[in-house]
Amino acid sequence: MDLILLGAPGAGKGTQGALLAEKLGIPKIATGDMLRDAVRQGTALGLEAKRFMDAGELVPDEVILGMVRERLSQADAVGGAIFDGYPRNAAQAESLGRMLGELDRSIDAVVSIDVPEDAIVERMTGRRTDPETGRVYHLVHNPPSAEVRDRLVQRDDDREETVRHRLQVYRTATEPLVAYYRASGVPFYAVDGDRPIEQVQEEILDLLGNDASTTP
Ligand code: AMP
Repeated sequence: MDLILLGAPGAGKGTQGALLAEKLGIPKIATGDMLRDAVRQGTALGLEAKRFMDAGELVPDEVILGMVRERLSQADAVGGAIFDGYPRNAAQAESLGRMLGELDRSIDAVVSIDVPEDAIVERMTGRRTDPETGRVYHLVHNPPSAEVRDRLVQRDDDREETVRHRLQVYRTATEPLVAYYRASGVPFYAVDGDRPIEQVQEEILDLLGNDASTTP
């Protein structure tokens, strides 16, 4: 199954995507995580991407396309993937459709995780990552244990000013994908993401299960 998670930055795509990946046995392809890895490793791609990321801007489409194409060619992605943070605009949606088409695949479902903007800002500014495991916590809503608390780091682009700019980029470039996929005929589900992690996960699994059971 190929599944897209749509939603504003901080809506919970990474958290829900990781749980879904485990449950469905397919990898999560998160372009933001891949870019952050490249930045950490100091690759040419990472160096190019970093200035866009720090500014809260989108990294150029051709950089993303090359990265996703390469990721999709890896063995673990042959049975499908959960796309998190990608596609981010109409051009990326078109190229994803073409790439999957070349593999005789297509998007099976789109899940939009909806969270009000003031809740997003509060979530993102309280978000911390464990650099050792990649796990994401929130200081209030998903607090870390005492052992990991001290090593947690804040993403540079989770500071309030950058968060507000990223939300503006989301509204302009990414939100139109809701209409794009709704019009495309792909099963589209909107879920209320302003709830506890487990409840959101349960609803998504229910919706996908219903979808599978109605497929002839
Ligand atoms: P994320 O972790 O998905 O919030 O992404 C963090 C940052 O990485 C974004 O603000 C962008 O600068 C960049 N980024 C991640 N995914 C994409 C994408 N599909 N297209 C363009 N830029 C991206």
